[in-house]
Amino acid sequence: MPEGRGDDIPRGGSPDPPRPDAARGGCGDPPRDEQQQPQPRRDSSLAPLAQNDSVGRAQKDSVGRTGATVEADGLHFAYVRGEAVLAGLSMRADAGRLTCVLGPNGSGKTTLLRLLAGLARPGAGEVRLAGRPLASYRRADLARRVAYVPQETLAAAPFTVAETVLMGRSPHIGALGFESQRDWQAAAEALRQTDTVRFAERGLDDLSGGERQRVLLARALAQEPDVVLLDEPTAFLDIKHQHAIYGLLRRLAAGQGKTVVAVSHDVSLASAYGDHLVLLSRGRVAAAGTPGEVVRPAILREVYETPVRVRTDEATGRPYVLPRPPESSRFS
Ligand code: ADP
Repeated sequence: MPEGRGDDIPRGGSPDPPRPDAARGGCGDPPRDEQQQPQPRRDSSLAPLAQNDSVGRAQKDSVGRTGATVEADGLHFAYVRGEAVLAGLSMRADAGRLTCVLGPNGSGKTTLLRLLAGLARPGAGEVRLAGRPLASYRRADLARRVAYVPQETLAAAPFTVAETVLMGRSPHIGALGFESQRDWQAAAEALRQTDTVRFAERGLDDLSGGERQRVLLARALAQEPDVVLLDEPTAFLDIKHQHAIYGLLRRLAAGQGKTVVAVSHDVSLASAYGDHLVLLSRGRVAAAGTPGEVVRPAILREVYETPVRVRTDEATGRPYVLPRPPESSRFS
């Protein structure tokens, strides 16, 4: 089994707090000669800009692109020699669709997402973006086209929300590091879309985990990428914000034509919003297709090794899952 090459690849869109020397919203630190270093600064003009609805609604990506197909072809990956985490995994995520990656803990979801983002390289197999191998893209190009939203972390960061979201523009900012009006507008629109305008001038440290998670998404949206890859974007969120985020992801896909891939452990939430589900089991695809094709008792029982009941939401026609406690743990 070929080993993956994760260790030599710089992490990007990193779970670490944003740093001035790593300001980016996308994937991967660019090489030294391509590094751009916008200076985060406190500025109160972003919030009023975001509150102005006409700014957001009229907005189109400055790059004018929509999504791009992401394909994984026969991916193998191992962190430790001989222990395959991905074992010949193939999948695809199309533009204009919300693809949800599901699977039990440890099935390889985060690893797959990092490979799709170019943050780690497969030991064998290939990831393609818009038909071209990911490895053939310049880091700076990839940083503009692909945004990676890691799982929220609670590490301290000495920046305001506005500064953090503006860092998402770093792949677009010129060598001198000055933001243009367009950069400010994109950041303001991202704040508005993620309902974080009212936090704009607060420090990241002053936010709850869920609020900070929405700021990470705002930073990715400010980047105006073709592809948005999200790792458990609703892990810390209450029901209202879970639906708000998945509603937004759907609009990004269906409305703006982006390619959106979200890792989730919530089968019902993914089923309610996803266009295409990819269910992993031990580093392989156990099932892929529409929610109706994937969210089936027999498939879920086998993959999650636990019995479930599947019902259909009458309003949407989509399946959802009810846990079915094993006999041994039922109350009498
Ligand atoms: P999931 O996201 O589905 O929970 P992951 O991709 O995070 O799965 O992990 C898949 C497997 O790889 C797990 O067994 C996990 O312990 C292992 N793993 C993840 N990251 C590392 C790492 N940095 N070093 C060694 N093993 C790892």
